[in-house]
Amino acid sequence: MCLPLEGKVALITGAARGIGKGIALVLAEQGADIVLNDKKMNLDGEVTADQIRETGRRVLLCEADVSQEDQVKAMFAKVGKEFGRLDILVNNAGTSQNKTIFEIDLEDWRYVIDTNLTSCFLCAKEAMTIMKKQRYGRVINISSVVAERGSLFGHMHYTSTKSGMLGMTKTLARTGAPLGINVNAVAPGIIETELMLKTHGIEGTEKLSASVPLGLGKPRAVGLAVAFLCGEGGDYITGTILDVNGGMNMR
Ligand code: NAD
Repeated sequence: MCLPLEGKVALITGAARGIGKGIALVLAEQGADIVLNDKKMNLDGEVTADQIRETGRRVLLCEADVSQEDQVKAMFAKVGKEFGRLDILVNNAGTSQNKTIFEIDLEDWRYVIDTNLTSCFLCAKEAMTIMKKQRYGRVINISSVVAERGSLFGHMHYTSTKSGMLGMTKTLARTGAPLGINVNAVAPGIIETELMLKTHGIEGTEKLSASVPLGLGKPRAVGLAVAFLCGEGGDYITGTILDVNGGMNMR
């Protein structure tokens, strides 16, 4: 039997570990070949790549800082050379800092905006240029529950990027629709990753998840939601925000 994403090529940014890794593994299990990006590939990236190969899929490692235009262009050129196509882009790379507006300086602001939001613009532009020629593509932006409800912890540079991704998603969905490109956002709640632990600590993460009806989430849960949007189930879905938050925020 044919796997749902057989024959597709998917690029996931910031995928050496955490949620990006969870997404890459699920997309590979469902048949996609994977372009694994991260700013620092190191041992995490090698382990993730090995796990993808175990699924029988091809994997291309692309170490690149996706906030830098020259590095993004070089990465997409490499993808074109290796695969000659790109079907799925997942804008997942992200960072945060545990600071409120009183501690955030302009350098912090620019670093978080460039890492989380400028990167989405740069990668979506390259990807959609390829996808429009194919008349097929899927772009998924990994936003956050804080995009719409604000953060309890004041890291307003982070929340600004996650809200910005929603506006970007809806506009790109309109641009992409006549070109065969669907664009959606996935908004995770509290997912067990290094970023979550770095931002809130073990105690903070436990405290936070105690108020979530389904508790702490796993990267795989986000991967499964992304795979749904990239498969046949997502054919008539564009410009939407899919919550993966265990009931943390109910609409
Ligand atoms: P993480 O820190 O565990 O992993 C992020 C990965 O992105 C790292 O491997 C890092 O090296 C990479 N990265 C950072 N900057 C990069 C850059 N400029 N270029 C390329 N790669 C870069 O974080 P995570 O928790 O897995 O978060 C992944 C995404 O999910 C982020 O966008 C984050 O905002 C979002 N998110 C996470 C949670 C959560 O609870 N963990 C909740 C909501 C949204």
